[in-house]
Amino acid sequence: YFRQNRLPHLWCPGCGNGTAMKSIVQAIETKNLDQDKTIIVSGIGCSSRASGYMNFDTLHTAHGRAIPFATGIKLANPELNVVVITGDGDCTAIGGNHFIHGARRNVDLTVIMFNNHIYGMTGGQASPMTPLHKKATTAPYGTVDRPFDACHLAEAAGATYVARSTAFHVKHLSDMIAAGFDNKGFSFIEAVVQCPTAFGRKNKMGDAPDMMKWMRDTAVMKAAWDKLPEDKREGKFPIGLFYQADFLEYTTAYQEVIDVAGGAK
Ligand code: SF4
Repeated sequence: YFRQNRLPHLWCPGCGNGTAMKSIVQAIETKNLDQDKTIIVSGIGCSSRASGYMNFDTLHTAHGRAIPFATGIKLANPELNVVVITGDGDCTAIGGNHFIHGARRNVDLTVIMFNNHIYGMTGGQASPMTPLHKKATTAPYGTVDRPFDACHLAEAAGATYVARSTAFHVKHLSDMIAAGFDNKGFSFIEAVVQCPTAFGRKNKMGDAPDMMKWMRDTAVMKAAWDKLPEDKREGKFPIGLFYQADFLEYTTAYQEVIDVAGGAK
């Protein structure tokens, strides 16, 4: 499932993007998705380089525009499995409008957002997912903007499958993605990844193993999180399946309209 052209990848040593990419491939293998019917669409950024390393039909699009490209592919070819790889900036800033409308329409896409909490490739600027008071090149004294909770945003916008995991919880991440493939509709999986270069160094979080420990110690399984008292939740985040719903999928709805219009002629 990986390209054999032996080109070196561009990710920094210790980056979590490769782990998240491998989890996607493991989920594809688990679900036995046809390689020739699975399309990987990505935006721009460190995460979005993944499409270039994967041996599928791939499309590396413009910044923030992966979801509209993927929507077009799915509308024209409803039989394809369309997977979107995006980053936190790509998905929730430049592509934020496409993200909420893709979810609202319930297009049958599996969107995996690699969340490294910052713009890595473009130079460490704060993204809408940079935690409050964390430093970035555009926030040298710490950001004063409250971050999005992308999972809440996806659910509120209409996504029918919403889950989160991390690059530390490799099997769990792969399982969350695989379950997203089963959902006929807009599936959103947030994959928290360590970024020792742009986010970690700026915020003195240590090297890659330190960031892995941070993910291990701060991620709490959803069921345990629900039982945690409010005062014990500070500095931690839940992982697991957050939301699932059954709602008419977009290409199916469109086909029904086409059938009705065709019959009316
Ligand atoms: Fe990975 Fe961060 Fe380097 Fe980008 S800047 S490749 S996210 S470690």
